[in-house]
Amino acid sequence: TSTPAPLSTLSAEDLAARLSAARADYESLKEAGLKLDLTRGKPGADQLDLSNGLLGLPTTYRSADGTDLRNYGGLDGLPELRAIFADLLAVDVASIVAGGNSSLTLMHQALTAMLLKGGPDSPRPWKDEPVVRFVCPVPGYDRHFTMLAELGIEMVSVPMNADGPDVEAVRALVTDDPSVKGMWIVPTYANPTGATCSPEVAEALMSMPTAAPDFRVLWDNAYAVHHLTDEETVSADALGLAAAAGNPNRPILFASTSKITFAGAGVAVLATSPENRAWYLQRLGFASIGPDKLNQLRHVEFFTDADGVRAHMRKHRDLIAPKFGAVEDALASRLDGLGIARWSAPTGGYFVNLDVLDGTATRVVALAKEAGIALTPAGSAFPYGNDPDDRNIRLAPTFPVLSEVQAAMAGVAVCVELAALEKLSA
Ligand code: PLP
Repeated sequence: TSTPAPLSTLSAEDLAARLSAARADYESLKEAGLKLDLTRGKPGADQLDLSNGLLGLPTTYRSADGTDLRNYGGLDGLPELRAIFADLLAVDVASIVAGGNSSLTLMHQALTAMLLKGGPDSPRPWKDEPVVRFVCPVPGYDRHFTMLAELGIEMVSVPMNADGPDVEAVRALVTDDPSVKGMWIVPTYANPTGATCSPEVAEALMSMPTAAPDFRVLWDNAYAVHHLTDEETVSADALGLAAAAGNPNRPILFASTSKITFAGAGVAVLATSPENRAWYLQRLGFASIGPDKLNQLRHVEFFTDADGVRAHMRKHRDLIAPKFGAVEDALASRLDGLGIARWSAPTGGYFVNLDVLDGTATRVVALAKEAGIALTPAGSAFPYGNDPDDRNIRLAPTFPVLSEVQAAMAGVAVCVELAALEKLSA
């Protein structure tokens, strides 16, 4: 077998032949009548089954210190559960608050509290600023961006590199402009690129001077322990680096068990400086008399300790790594060498990032839809849904069963090639 030639080097005649072949493949794809979905970054049923032991827990309703967990109270969460997360996130247990099932809700609460009340170091509530802006590494998590849009916070994009957000691009935005109040980051196995923030980039982000005295980094470590290989990446120590740099209140860490146990019935945590934590709990005290500590307890009983979580994550890995392998195989077997697509080979997390020929992502998603394959709308990974290059597509292979991932991805590869050939022939 010979290495395929980049499509851009083909003669007009060869291009036309190739286009009609791709059209024929696409017609057969449509005739197959698929109904497949690669949009949902959620665990498959087999992954959820790994945690069915939770359904019979807890076996008691008392905490280690004898507290009756059926009652109100314990606003900052069950200490035993906080200890497990402290170990997993390599932070002090005293920095952690354990809450309900959604870390996204904790992020929303942190932002709304900054808007309505301001933080401990805010000159005034953010709502009283003429404009509030956030730095958004792209491509990024769509819900981060839609949350900011919902709250009226403007977004400014910076590139997401292989070692984290582009430090110089961030610096250029934050140094002189006090309206830039914060940034998002998914530090480990980012959604959707799979990149992990290096200790050097983390150090720069935590120490760089910012014009806003209350600049916040929302450090969403949703995939801290979601390894896809034997190499278990360690997250940078945001809290330690920020404290050492004299900016202890800058980072707020978030994590949850959504993709560890049950996505709809897990436990979420945040971790931050003592001052931020007290500030957060004070706000929370007006909204809640305490979290669901029995759910927290059943997670403690189920895992025993952080090593229990790590062992559990290896079972997830065994179920989903083959699906990521299927994505790679399907893309490589059709598209390698054609010069029309690049894709990530993530070592953790939930997504594969696919960059197609510039200007064709919307077309690829439309072609796939017509063939019965649902893909995340083009542009979703960018603020305001606007991918300036119309090239980025997020693939989520965990939810469908393996044979469906294989069929869907073979179809996606056909659509990527067809859209590129249409563009190159135009
Ligand atoms: N953060 C990131 C980066 C995610 O990808 C997701 C889910 O896809 C979430 C947060 C949602 O977290 P939770 O279920 O804890 O609200």
